[in-house]
This record gives sequence, structure tokens and C-alpha cells, in this order.
Amino acid sequence: MKHYLTIALLLCLACLQGCGQKANQSEAPAQSQGQNDELIYHYPLGDTEVVLLSDGQKTDNPSVLVNAPEEIVREFVPTGEAGSAFNIFLLKLAGKKILVDSGMGYNLVENLAKEGISPEQIDIILLTHMHGDHIGGLMKDGVRVFPNAELYISEKEVAYWTDKELQASLPEGQQRGFAGAQAVVEAYKDKLHLFEPQSIEQMTELIPGVKSIASYGHTPGHTCYMVENGGQRFFIWGDLINFPTVQVPHPEIATRHDIDPTQAAVSRAHVLNWLERQGITVAGMHVPYPGMGQLTMTQRGLELELLK
Ligand SMILES: [Zn+2]
Repeated sequence: MKHYLTIALLLCLACLQGCGQKANQSEAPAQSQGQNDELIYHYPLGDTEVVLLSDGQKTDNPSVLVNAPEEIVREFVPTGEAGSAFNIFLLKLAGKKILVDSGMGYNLVENLAKEGISPEQIDIILLTHMHGDHIGGLMKDGVRVFPNAELYISEKEVAYWTDKELQASLPEGQQRGFAGAQAVVEAYKDKLHLFEPQSIEQMTELIPGVKSIASYGHTPGHTCYMVENGGQRFFIWGDLINFPTVQVPHPEIATRHDIDPTQAAVSRAHVLNWLERQGITVAGMHVPYPGMGQLTMTQRGLELELLK
């Protein structure tokens, strides 16, 4: 009896969380309870590994999709919700410990501790973009969490989020994201590296073992990363694809989280078209556990097959 009551209570809580979640550009999170064991995953890459450090699993509702045709939603999201997550990736390359994004900050320090790494030991942080669910782990109580880390962000991304005039012209709800990004830029100002990523055809090395790729639209400076080691490659698409079950086969469909939906769709189609021919493992910040998979051509089009 007690058991059933607990389940009923959890279901109620889940419903309250889900129903209360409003989609907006900063992707207000609703961390699902009960699935937090799916937090870490090790993927071998040459003589090193890529480690998924997750801030938790969640589900996404197709209502975040913009103008998605009804029949596509029915085909790819038959249950009315799709798996999602908040992911961070840890790379160990050329003697450096590198984070790609920092998630919400829910589990990052604890997950790193499980890997035997303290915040002081993180050498480099690469950001895909500066939405709150990607920079949330960089700060705690107004202070930076990673005192020794060099922080890499595309120049365009920082220019957007530090544009005070633009910030003042937006509704209050959207201004908060600017304040959060500005706090990060200020806290890490002596460690900040701004760069200009190139197209996927002309990507160049940003740090040893990692190339940066311009993939603007989701945010004005959104950047993907190609990790290379021992002749093997691993692609991190960040939020270029936010709702994989629909946007991999249909990159033309944007989500409400895209600041420039038209440009985001162009970038998504371009990068996916290039990746499709490579046969490499791809990963994303909102790809359900283990946060990575293989692009596979099916009768329904290109789809992401998650790694087991
Ligand atoms: Zn995101």
C-alpha cells in the first residue's frame, strides 16, 4: 500500500512539474526525479575517453516545436513525449581535463568527484553557447566554480549576451538570461578566450584535439566541437539539435528555444548533411542517456540510434 502511495505521489509531483514548465528561450528545466542513476557514461576514443556527466534525464513535449506538421509529430513522437537530458562532456586530451558546457550545475561537481576530479583540476571549459542550462554549473553563490579553468566561448556569443542595449529592449523574462551570461563573463574575465569558429568544411583546431564549428541560430554564436584522438572522431552538437527524435529526420523544424529559428534550421541541415556521410559518434546536450549515438539512415529518413 505504502509503495503504491509513493508511486502515486511521485506521479502527482511529476505532473505538477511537467504542467508547470513553460517553454521559453532560456529552457527552464524540470529535472525528472528517480532517473538520476543515469548520470555517467564512458566512451573510448583512441587511447583516451569521452565521459558523459549528466545533470539528469527529462522528457520533452512536442509543444516546444515551432510549426511542426501534425503528421510528423504523430510519427516521431507517438507517445506525446520524447526523452531528453541535460548533458556535459568531459574530455581528457593532451594531459588536459576539459569540460564541454557545464549543465544546470545540479550534479557536475559530484559527478566529477566520482571520476576522481576536483573543480580545481579542470584546465579548460569549452562552451557551445550561453543559455542557462549550459552555463549553470560555472558559478555558485556568485563565485566561479572552476578557479583554474580557461574558458572558451565564441566571440559572437559573448557579443550577444553582453549587449546591454539589446538586453534593455527585451521583455523582463528574457533579460535574466543576459544577466546570468554577463555574470559568467565577469567572473572568468581573466581566463576568457574568444574565438571565431569556422564552417564544418573548414573547421580548425581550437585546442589540441578539438576543432570548433560555427552553427549559429539556436543562439547567435552557437558552436559545435569535433573531438579527435588516435584517428577517431567524436562530434558534440550542443543544442544545434534540441529535440533529436524530430529534428534529426526533420532539421527544418525549429524549437521555441532557437533565437533565430530560420538560421538554426539552415545550420542544422548543413551540419547533419555533412555528418551523415562520416559514420562518427555524435553527442548532444539534450540527447537522452547515454547522450550519444550513431546517425542511421532509415525508411523514415536520418535518425539517431542511441548507444547502448
Ligand atoms: Zn540547452
